[in-house]
Amino acid sequence: MSMNAYETTNTFLKRAMSVLDLEPGYETLLLTPRREVRVELTIRMDDGSIGNYIGYRVQHDNARGPYKGGLRYHPEVDVDEVRSLASLMTWKTAVIDVPFGGAKGGIQVDPTKLSEKEIERLTRRFVDLIHDFIGERVDIPAPDVNTNAKVMGWFFDQYTLHEGFSPGVVTGKPVSLHGSLGRESATGRGAMLAIREVLAADGKKLQGTSFSVQGFGNVGSWFARLAHAQGAKIVAVSDVKGGIFVGDGIDVPKLLEHVKATGSVVGFAGARSINNEEILTVDCDVLVPAALGHVITDKVAAEIRAKYVVEGANGPCTLEGSDVLDQRGVLCLPDIWANAGGVTVSYFEWVQNLQQHRWSEEKVNEELERHIVAAHKDIRAAMARYKTSMRTAAFVLALERVKAATDQRGHG
Ligand code: GLU
Repeated sequence: MSMNAYETTNTFLKRAMSVLDLEPGYETLLLTPRREVRVELTIRMDDGSIGNYIGYRVQHDNARGPYKGGLRYHPEVDVDEVRSLASLMTWKTAVIDVPFGGAKGGIQVDPTKLSEKEIERLTRRFVDLIHDFIGERVDIPAPDVNTNAKVMGWFFDQYTLHEGFSPGVVTGKPVSLHGSLGRESATGRGAMLAIREVLAADGKKLQGTSFSVQGFGNVGSWFARLAHAQGAKIVAVSDVKGGIFVGDGIDVPKLLEHVKATGSVVGFAGARSINNEEILTVDCDVLVPAALGHVITDKVAAEIRAKYVVEGANGPCTLEGSDVLDQRGVLCLPDIWANAGGVTVSYFEWVQNLQQHRWSEEKVNEELERHIVAAHKDIRAAMARYKTSMRTAAFVLALERVKAATDQRGHG
């Protein structure tokens, strides 16, 4: 029987817990969220009818700092998925060593069926219903699947109506509305830096290495753009509408123009079209799943030809899929490190908001690199010490950090 997302994350976590031999009391504390908020969102649609949606905010752990994590708009959002994603944020902020806990929010909605005005009303209504539970020093949302800087701008504005000027209540805002330079590209940049470090450890370079990228949203498109600029060969990319393959490597700047003009990677001149399954098993050195969760099942994992998998998305591997990759010797860079660039620069944005002081883009990118590189060293040390997979090592490292903060706070 296949597991839901929350069970999968908790199984990964339990493996790391057994490596550390934690007391049972910690298991309950660290597996389960501290608070879950569910709200019924009612908005007026453009045609005058009433639209009903369900929204969640799950706050998993705040031992290391305020709850932190994105907000996604997707028809498949449910409480188990949000719990899993909230928990991943706790471990991600710990691995990358920014002083936050973990949370996640979501609205069960297909935003492609809503007008921009409807999405704005939905966002504002969500803030109306959760503003008591969040705050610059409490819980700080950010973009995730199908949300972006524009949505974060509305979020900031609506929160400010309730609580007064508080730019640090949400990150990933537009640069001209208290956002940070370098935030938009941060997740893709972090993933590019992570695989760069891993390749270097194996005596290889980005230059000439071939990549297949599933997803061409914020993470996938920035990853492709930045890796291409470093000389990587992007042989395949896909989005919700389909995929393309160019054996000699895609001209990514040209592809970005094509996507801007047509709304999809599909139909790019000179490319062979491939479907959303082929994108995962195509011949390449590195596979970057940067779309949704659970796409790498055991069946897919058995057919992957890449030597490395970079988890740009959150939870792209099922438990069985992850195990098959390990058995086959495919090195998987886990989401809680590989896609942590976004929350790292969210932390920089928050610091800038609290200090009312803007950083240069160079400073943002340099500091981001420092965090990604340091986490790589720490994860490698844990792999060597505990003789585990990279994923388990990352969870062990995170658990040690969260446990230390929990203990140092004391237990009353
Ligand atoms: N949604 C992103 C993630 O999953 C970013 C979270 C944030 O910046 O708080 O890591």
